Amino acid sequence: MSELRDDQWFTEVFDSHGSAFSLKVSEKLLDVQSEYQHLEVYATETYGNLMVLDGCVMLTDRDNFLYHEMIAHPVLFTHADPKRVVIIGGGDCGTLKEVLRHEGVEKVTQIDIDEEVTKAAERFFPSLVESNHDPRAELLFADGVKWVDEAEDDSIDVLIIDSTDPVGPAEGLFKTDFLKRCHRILKPGGIMVQQSESPLYHSDSIIRELRGDMKKAGFESVATLPFPQPVYPSGWWSVTLAGKGVSVERFREEAATATQMPLQYYTAEVHRGALALPPFMRQAFAE
Ligand code: SAM
Repeated sequence: MSELRDDQWFTEVFDSHGSAFSLKVSEKLLDVQSEYQHLEVYATETYGNLMVLDGCVMLTDRDNFLYHEMIAHPVLFTHADPKRVVIIGGGDCGTLKEVLRHEGVEKVTQIDIDEEVTKAAERFFPSLVESNHDPRAELLFADGVKWVDEAEDDSIDVLIIDSTDPVGPAEGLFKTDFLKRCHRILKPGGIMVQQSESPLYHSDSIIRELRGDMKKAGFESVATLPFPQPVYPSGWWSVTLAGKGVSVERFREEAATATQMPLQYYTAEVHRGALALPPFMRQAFAE
């Protein structure tokens, strides 16, 4: 649920958690009802531009680096040698940009259901789309669930599910059957990562269920990495990694330490720290 108050505050209300998040806005830049969702872009006073889908904050200029670096680099530094990468969702292209920083990656296909999101990113978030013309990048606009259904067995090294919340078009991306298909299309040693909502609000619900479903789908190793995200519900978010015949609790620390990528949040130390689960999460995930 969202509203623009008279005094120009954009507010997203998290009814089920009795909380809300507001940003002072100076202008509404875009308001489109696409075939799939309601897309808005605002100029804010202190967070740069803000993208909203169906009333939910997707990203701002100021803090999207946290999410995009944490959904891309932990999984890519955990995989032994990622060459073939697929992103489901991610239409703002911020994740794609981070993946393309890895020189060993030979091909990345991004499948977002809604081309309007990418068009809005091109107009209002130019820094996120700056790698879109990299010859290794392929952008498709289709349902990610269907794309995964039709993909070949054992064909992908890293699968990134950069979706909206598990309602509306993204609902199918959180189902056990979908996770089974993700497992099928990953090569042995392949890893998937999924944005997995708030550690504070969802550890004993969505995250716990996702982890259980990943194990049911055949993944032997699962790890949830929390990180700060000021503009999302509770200000705290997570990604969950799942390995096909490979541990996701260890990563290529030497490579992560030596990287020259110009990153703003991810480092080998941050990765190690994120793997150390706080007790309340460990308890919520206990089987
Ligand atoms: N960082 C964001 C977050 O966690 O709230 C997610 C960013 S990204 C904008 C989410 C994208 O997922 C949207 O562009 C949406 O169109 C896409 N999406 C939702 N359901 C999808 C599906 N079934 N197949 C492909 N893309 C989907």
